[in-house]
Amino acid sequence: MRSYHPTQRIMVTGGAGFLGSHLCDRLITAGHDVLCVDNFFTGTKDNIAHLLGHPRFELLRHDVTWPLYVEVDQIYNLACPASPVHYQHDPVQTTKTSVHGAINMLGLAKRLRARIFQASTSEVYGDPAVHPQPEEYWGHVNPIGPRSCYDEGKRCAETLFFDYYRQHALDIKVARIFNTYGPRMHPNDGRVVSNFIMQALNGTDITIYGDGSQTRSFCYVDDLIDGFLKFMDTGTDFPGPVNLGNPNEFTIRQLAELVISMTGSSSKLKFEPLPADDPTQRQPDIRLARERLQWEPRIQLREGLAATIQSFERRLSGGRA
Ligand code: NAD
Ligand code: UDP
Ligand code: UDP
Repeated sequence: MRSYHPTQRIMVTGGAGFLGSHLCDRLITAGHDVLCVDNFFTGTKDNIAHLLGHPRFELLRHDVTWPLYVEVDQIYNLACPASPVHYQHDPVQTTKTSVHGAINMLGLAKRLRARIFQASTSEVYGDPAVHPQPEEYWGHVNPIGPRSCYDEGKRCAETLFFDYYRQHALDIKVARIFNTYGPRMHPNDGRVVSNFIMQALNGTDITIYGDGSQTRSFCYVDDLIDGFLKFMDTGTDFPGPVNLGNPNEFTIRQLAELVISMTGSSSKLKFEPLPADDPTQRQPDIRLARERLQWEPRIQLREGLAATIQSFERRLSGGRA
């Protein structure tokens, strides 16, 4: 590790995306120098427009599947499309982004002896047979299905992180992120929160896949970023993996009804077929995060949805999310 310096040079790959842009905001506010690296596959300049021109913010258009030679103190590796619609658009590129991207960012971290964070995912648990999912659970993942490019790509990235940790004593932090929502989510990325809000605001049918009895737990973005920062501050003896998410579980039907009531929408529920390999239940076991990071989400679904709905309304009326 480099010697401690209050202003760190911190690189965020995928920094123009939903989570990455919120992370850049928080790091800039904390007084750090931020290098945002993004190829704009799903991210946009709009998400970081307010940071362009800031003296401690720098933007680099770059694809992490290619080597990168820069000088930084810490790395957050978030580059990867996250929604099924986006990651299945070019599945080979998705796997390359996770795997080649991890190799390049780990090689960079190794040369610099820099701490490196990996945005892993609850999808490493697949369609889980254990509920809720603790970090020790190895998962139930289809290696050859339509979601595999994402799930297996992220699993292989975790393998690489832990091999660099064991083989090269690299200072790694692997977080398994569960469904997160908030302002700057892509309005058209097909994810359930953004779909339901857009449909409710536009007065079109709310599309429930399957019978809506499948569950998810939704974490508000500000809570999640708190978790990233707390995890990054832990000692080298805690590489993770650690689950970060909100353990409050809702059925998809409950979510639809809540969005309709909060927006006062006239939308009706419309039931469509369930996509292949769609997990029936997902809920993080966050005991490890509570114990090691003294972290747990504070923002409940109703409060987080209100802020998200407002940001979508602003965007629909031509403003910034
Ligand atoms: P996002 O799509 O908004 O952000 C991903 C960013 O990575 C985008 O800005 C995109 O342009 C960039 N990117 C993609 N491929 C790249 C490449 N090859 N080189 C450089 N940049 C590239 O998604 P998000 O929700 O902000 O997710 C960020 C990270 O968190 C991802 O790694 C995702 O897998 C992980 N994650 C997110 C969630 C969630 O609920 N949002 C859940 C689990 C894991
Ligand atoms: N790499 C990079 N930036 C660096 C150092 C390495 O992008 O500053 C990439 C490089 O392309 C290399 C990969 O990271 O292939 C893995 O690096 P490592 O040193 O682990 O392995 P090697 O160079 O032996 O392949
Ligand atoms: N879903 C739905 N209607 C939509 C979009 C998604 O019913 O318009 C369901 C989807 O089938 C899944 C859940 O909502 O069961 C969460 O989907 P999302 O794509 O947001 O995330 P993930 O499946 O990766 O958790």
